[in-house]
Amino acid sequence: MSEHSETATLGIHVLAKPIGPVCDIKCDYCFYLEKRALFASDEPYRMPDAVLAKYIEQYVEAQPTPVVEFVWHGGEPTLLGVDFFRRVVELQAPYRARKEIRNTLQTNALSLDDEWCAFFKANDFFIGVSLDGPQDIHDRYRKDRHGVGTFERVMAGVRLLQKHQVEFNALACVGRDTAYRPLDVYRFFKDAGIHYIQFTPIVERMPAPAMQTLGLWLASPATLDREEPNTEVTPWTVEPEKYGDFLIAIYEEWVRKDVGTTFVMNFEWALTVWVGEPSPVCIFSKTCGRAVAMEHDGSVFACDHYVYPEYKLGNVLVDNLGEMVERSVASGFGPHKETTLPRYCRECEVKEACWGGCPKHRFATTPDGEPGLHYLCAGYKKFFRHIRKYLRAMGTLIENDLPVSYVMQAIDAPLIVTGRKPGGG
Ligand code: SF4
Ligand code: SF4
Repeated sequence: MSEHSETATLGIHVLAKPIGPVCDIKCDYCFYLEKRALFASDEPYRMPDAVLAKYIEQYVEAQPTPVVEFVWHGGEPTLLGVDFFRRVVELQAPYRARKEIRNTLQTNALSLDDEWCAFFKANDFFIGVSLDGPQDIHDRYRKDRHGVGTFERVMAGVRLLQKHQVEFNALACVGRDTAYRPLDVYRFFKDAGIHYIQFTPIVERMPAPAMQTLGLWLASPATLDREEPNTEVTPWTVEPEKYGDFLIAIYEEWVRKDVGTTFVMNFEWALTVWVGEPSPVCIFSKTCGRAVAMEHDGSVFACDHYVYPEYKLGNVLVDNLGEMVERSVASGFGPHKETTLPRYCRECEVKEACWGGCPKHRFATTPDGEPGLHYLCAGYKKFFRHIRKYLRAMGTLIENDLPVSYVMQAIDAPLIVTGRKPGGG
């Protein structure tokens, strides 16, 4: 598994795993490799053509929006070979007259070569590359099956994407050690010519005994409505406040030098909410339910974070995808995120930006003893409080139809808006 990607909240969003949990490397923090335990030992982890065709048809038909975005995730989807994705494009073709169809593929970049990159370019694929930062940081957690760091091979893939002018972003996981090196990480990306970056904090708990008997080596999601007996996190889990400090240090540099030229998705999401739009990501939305995961055999689960037997919604071969999603939205899973929010969150000054975070990681307890608080609360709160002054300035610029990048000039002086941009509305 390359890493988890967060998905938006409008329409239906499916994270497809055409090769299931199979990957050619073994990152310390991966939460998806263990899912092999949920399938038979002789499972052929390759999405059959019948499932692929049915999925593409169902996803296009069920999507209420004019754009249908296919997200190919894993495991490592490139292990299926380029021909698998040629078939994807072929099966999507008849629907292009009715809908705008986009493809995003998340990869560890190890298999990329000229053929892959030419294919991506020709078919307008957007690529997410799992890259955590400079070599010593990346290789700390992202290793091959022999324990050897993958940095150099990933960078070879990045250079090929750049050579072929394929659009991509870096998905950087923030593990415990990484959080101590914010500017090393951020400047590395800029120096490498990577201007679209998304940070994902690593949070996993050690498993309870019941999970270990299933063959799973990480804890299942938090229950939210009762105190978690197990709050021991893995050694690579980021420390809550350190995660906030990490984002703040990068934000401070970005807001002085790079607004409009480097795009850190975490910062863009916060601005989107500040100007009154719904959060583009589920983790900071009020409810869950619209971002489902589909395994290679067509099984649909409530979410990429909830691929457990009890969260299975059905299978695209026999069930209707739209109905499965609606069931998930209407059932306990969708609204649970909001209805179980502890009072500490409901009264929080940054609630609108956070909404308690992803329920999977709400295994902490509030200062007054209520369960269901996000493990990263201290970091989230610190970050969202810190950036409010900048968001306020950017909001004013947007209201006055001025470029957000003007905020860089207002860092050390009050922002005085004297007029609109020439030609502005
Ligand atoms: S549990 Fe909810 S917030 Fe967390 S990843 Fe899934 S849909 Fe998003
Ligand atoms: S910052 Fe903490 S208290 Fe506030 S909404 Fe987020 S998790 Fe809850």
